[in-house]
Amino acid sequence: MKQVALPPRLTVKELAQALGVPPAEVSKALLQHRILATINQSVDFETAGLAAQQLGMEVLRAEAETVTGVAGEAPDLTREEEGELRTRPPVVTVLGHVDHGKTSLLDAIRHTQVAAGEAGGITQRIGAYTVDVGGRPVTFIDTPGHAAFTAMRARGANVTDLAVLVVAADDGIMPQTDEAIQHAKQAGVTILVAINKIDRDDANPDRVKQQLTERGIVVEEYGGEVVAVPVSARSGEGIDHLLEMILLVTDLREPRANPDRLAEGTVIDAHLERGRGPVATVLVQNGTLRVRDFFVVGPVAGRVQSLTDDRGRRVQSAGPGIPVVVAGMPEVVRAGDRFLAAESERQSKSIADRNRGAADQRSQDARRVSLADIGRQAGSGVQDLALVLKADSQGELEALRGVLLRFEDSLVRLRLVFEGVGPITETDVDLAAAANAIVIGYNVRPEPNARAAADRGGVDVRTYDVVYQITEDIERAVRGMHAPTFEEVFVGRAEVRMRIKVPKIGFIAGSHVTEGKVVRDAVLSIRRDGRELQRSKVASLRRFKDDVREVAQGYDCGIEIADFQDFQEGDLLEAFVVEQRNA
Ligand code: GDP
Repeated sequence: MKQVALPPRLTVKELAQALGVPPAEVSKALLQHRILATINQSVDFETAGLAAQQLGMEVLRAEAETVTGVAGEAPDLTREEEGELRTRPPVVTVLGHVDHGKTSLLDAIRHTQVAAGEAGGITQRIGAYTVDVGGRPVTFIDTPGHAAFTAMRARGANVTDLAVLVVAADDGIMPQTDEAIQHAKQAGVTILVAINKIDRDDANPDRVKQQLTERGIVVEEYGGEVVAVPVSARSGEGIDHLLEMILLVTDLREPRANPDRLAEGTVIDAHLERGRGPVATVLVQNGTLRVRDFFVVGPVAGRVQSLTDDRGRRVQSAGPGIPVVVAGMPEVVRAGDRFLAAESERQSKSIADRNRGAADQRSQDARRVSLADIGRQAGSGVQDLALVLKADSQGELEALRGVLLRFEDSLVRLRLVFEGVGPITETDVDLAAAANAIVIGYNVRPEPNARAAADRGGVDVRTYDVVYQITEDIERAVRGMHAPTFEEVFVGRAEVRMRIKVPKIGFIAGSHVTEGKVVRDAVLSIRRDGRELQRSKVASLRRFKDDVREVAQGYDCGIEIADFQDFQEGDLLEAFVVEQRNA
């Protein structure tokens, strides 16, 4: 049976691409299970598995999440052959309340290498580093703090396999510990607890374990599955044990990747450096990055001038799970963005241009979800309305939750991403962006930087002083305004067989329709090596010398593509038409 690796969530369209069938087939397969999903709706791994099974395929969990957006292309793990995957170092982040010892712990771990007398010695601070645990590498993201973690997630990058939750044994669980737990849970990342500062007289590890249990994080001693390791970042006690447990826990996830392909990764850190210009620390997640490789990060295209590892040594290449500093950036890129190696300069520039276009488009109608969207979509299947709730007091919060949950019905499911007391913070907004959620504030206001983050990320933030306004708004959204919706429907696929020069026009794509049909008013997704290069309209469609309205499967045709002549033999043209649906 054909096996396909899938991320935890993907749209019906992406699923169809991964399975190599038209989206309509996937929708049909889901309908067999009484699941109604439109092409742009996303489904979780289990649901995707049902559809795949119906189509005679089997699904596996992909290592990394599929990433889309300005950040760049989706990592093409879906196309990875099982046999090409090799074990890669697990990637770990450290989260926890301020002053509980995140930095000290990361330093203590970094120092184990010196103690072990490893050549190269102490690591440089490049935003991530790799340590050797009994001959096995483990990579740590060295940018503690939830903001960085969430910002990366907000941009679609889920870089870590494991979150080490640091809780000080003298202090116990504090607000940011709770926040960290929520973040890790949202990201679907395994949690391992480091109970720190056990050297202190007032250390009380048992209290920490109890508090964790109250929050649904049940440690092994209490019959649960979460590993908790007592440590002291100061004395070094327990650090080796912590490292061993990290390996043990991450081994269960079997982190794997394919080293024999163009590199894909995430920018962990980026800045301007004297002498080297703009540089970026990139965590390679799949493939191998080499000196002189072409690459693209969001709207920026470049070529690798040099690679430097976390010991400050020049290296020629870096494989999956390894962080490296990349020089050769034309400008400073953003942390959290996707990094993609490209086959050629032309390819990298074309992807960069497209990403720039997408970014411009996004800032014009910057919006992930808003209540209006939900209203517009109502009637097109089960809707997941994700919410971040903030209120002035615990009592108000509970009241708010009660009111909102009344709106749940067979069509609308409310998902509370996070709820808390106090003003709407930047972290709340980042969390909402990552989860495609709406922020609702009751008797609270956004902090200034939260407002800026909302504008940037296109997050719908709504504040209310009276409950009935909330109910009116949500009701209107949830019950649907029954406005028509527009949807892209896949109609067919053609393969470019030759470039045909036509006077005045330039080049048109001599193509063969391999599936469905290509129609005159279609939008084409131009794809090469499984990646979309661009979307363009059909400018004209011809059979021999005649203009035609459509060309069916099995026939040759000439396709003039609006604003695009860069196609080459073997490119795939997927045709979509926009259809109006009345709710
Ligand atoms: P962060 O804010 O979570 O990064 O915390 P830091 O690593 O900056 O540590 C906060 C404070 O706790 C510093 O004064 C550290 O010296 C202290 N600290 C960290 N780990 C330990 C430990 O294991 N034992 C003791 N006694 N103090 C610690």
